[in-house]
Amino acid sequence: MDCLFCKIAAGEIPAHKLYEDDLVVAFQDISPQAPVHFLVIPKRHIPTLNDLSEEDRLLAGHILLTAQRLAREQGCEKGFRAVMNCNEQGGQTVYHIHMHVLGQRQMHWPPG
Ligand code: 5GP
Repeated sequence: MDCLFCKIAAGEIPAHKLYEDDLVVAFQDISPQAPVHFLVIPKRHIPTLNDLSEEDRLLAGHILLTAQRLAREQGCEKGFRAVMNCNEQGGQTVYHIHMHVLGQRQMHWPPG
């Protein structure tokens, strides 16, 4: 499958990985928008948030808890932002779901 993040998960394209287990991989974003900016992805190819199903409950929770734990490990005790962009209007550019975690700077609302 010609998917950038599947290739990163498989180790076929290099990335600075922070964590990996059977279900998920976390790695630094190539174009960081904050001093801390990493992505948590499932290893399995799921194109968008709309494609998650009931069977993915554990996986979805695991993505969230991995984001939370790594944010703490990256020194984001003052706070951080976790976000998933969905489809074109949501600003998604890579069609393999990923949770962005951004931290170590003040975030603003609403996002652009
Ligand atoms: P999206 O816009 O889909 O929510 O986010 C995609 C993210 O993937 C962007 O923040 C972008 O910088 C990141 N990205 C795109 N290509 C690569 C890559 O080859 N390696 C890494 N590590 N991140 C990438």
